[in-house]
Order: sequence, then structure tokens, then C-alpha cells
Amino acid sequence: MHLSSKTVSFIILSLPLFFISCTHVKIETNDTIFQTSTFDALLAGNYEGTMSFEELSKKGGFGIGTFNQLDGEMLALDGKFYQIKADGMVYPVNPEMKTPFAVVTHFIADTSFTLTNELDFDQFNNLIDEIIPTKNIFYAIKVEGKFKQAITRSVPNQSQPYPPLVEIVKEQPLFEFISETGTMVGFRVLEYFGGVNVPAYHYHFINHDKSRGGHLLNCMISEATISIDFIHESQISLNNSSSFYNLNLEKDRSEETEKVER
Ligand code: ZN
Repeated sequence: MHLSSKTVSFIILSLPLFFISCTHVKIETNDTIFQTSTFDALLAGNYEGTMSFEELSKKGGFGIGTFNQLDGEMLALDGKFYQIKADGMVYPVNPEMKTPFAVVTHFIADTSFTLTNELDFDQFNNLIDEIIPTKNIFYAIKVEGKFKQAITRSVPNQSQPYPPLVEIVKEQPLFEFISETGTMVGFRVLEYFGGVNVPAYHYHFINHDKSRGGHLLNCMISEATISIDFIHESQISLNNSSSFYNLNLEKDRSEETEKVER
């Protein structure tokens, strides 16, 4: 792993400058986005953790996911893993704990810029869509800054028989952050990767003192530094459990994905 020598920084001063070309950026192309299981398997109720965090951490220290028995939202930042349980609070993650679904990478920014305009969640994602040179690769995205507002959710620990995720999120606890400094950790995944992962944008959030966070549903960013890692390779680890072998993964779950993630 090596740092890109030509990491480009630029400053966005006003909205008309959104259309900044990235064609001159020298991209570090050795990165891999690694994921355990598939998102549809999680939607189908496959919440048994199969990969330990000790193993997962070797694949990357930046990412998002969940825990065995769906016990909260996972966020990984700078090599540290955090568990955000259904009370919205952050708990430490032990290496022997397991995950049924996680997406991680070894984050190395290929480009970064400073945002000084207030942007809501959709405006921010539209801005990233404008800035990235193509929608045909993966991106890991880190947003460190001040948030006028952020809304997150988490999910409660489940027991057998596991209900589908779309049922669980009907009663998901929500958490509000006002004038909070924090970090968004997430990915832009290929839109045609639906079923395997969450298409387009998926972020988790953690506040500055790493005490609260969750799966990000909405936000208003006041100012931030955005770092983007361009990723050209994907690795998927599929479970060898009988519960995974027997799942019906041929069903179209795109509507469920929208209900669960947005
Ligand atoms: Zn999430």
C-alpha cells in the first residue's frame, strides 16, 4: 500500500464551481472494495455473523456494515471499528466479534477538497456525481466536517427466527445531531450492483468524540473536507453456511433496499 503522490486538493468556493474536472488526477489503482456476503442476503434475514473483525480488519480499516444478529450499525475509520447499537451510542468492537455483512477498504484518498457551502444530503450526493470522472468504478468517501443537522438510525439485536430487514426498520430508532462535528464514512457503489451491495450512496456517521452515530438517513453539511478513494477492484466473500446456501437470492429486492437504506 502506498500513498498517491499526486493527491489533488482543490477548494470549492461557490456552487458554479461544482463542475470541476478530475481528468488530471493521477489515480492509485491498487485499491479493493471488500465485502462479506451480499446485501440481499441481509435483506433476507441472514444475520448470523460469519467473519470475525480480526479477519475483516485485514481487508481494510475504513468501512460500514453490521454485526452478528444485526446488533447495530458498524463504522470503521482509521483502522478502528465502532459498534453503534440501537440506543445510538458507540461501543468498542472486539476482534472476535463477527459480522454478517460489511464493506471495507484500505482508504487512500486520490482526491480531496474543501466544501464551504451548506449542502443537504441530496445536493451533496449530486455534487459527488458531478465531481467523479465516471460512474463505472467504486468510490470510498470520507466527509469530515461540521453538520448543521444529521439524522441517523440503528437497528436492534435480533433473535431467531429472524424477521426480514424491511420489517425491522419499520420501528428503527432515529437519532438527531444538531451543530455537530463528525465524520461520514461511506461508498458509492456501481448502480447495477444492486442485490450484491447498496447501489449508489451509503454512509454511516460518527460524531467527533466517537460517542454517537448510526446509518445516515439525512444531513445538512455546513462545511467539510471530502476525501475520495477511487477503487477499481471488488472482492466478495460468500458464506459457506447452510443458512446462506438455502437463501432465495433470486428475488428482486430493490424496493426493499430503498425502504431500508434511504
Ligand atoms: Zn447502513
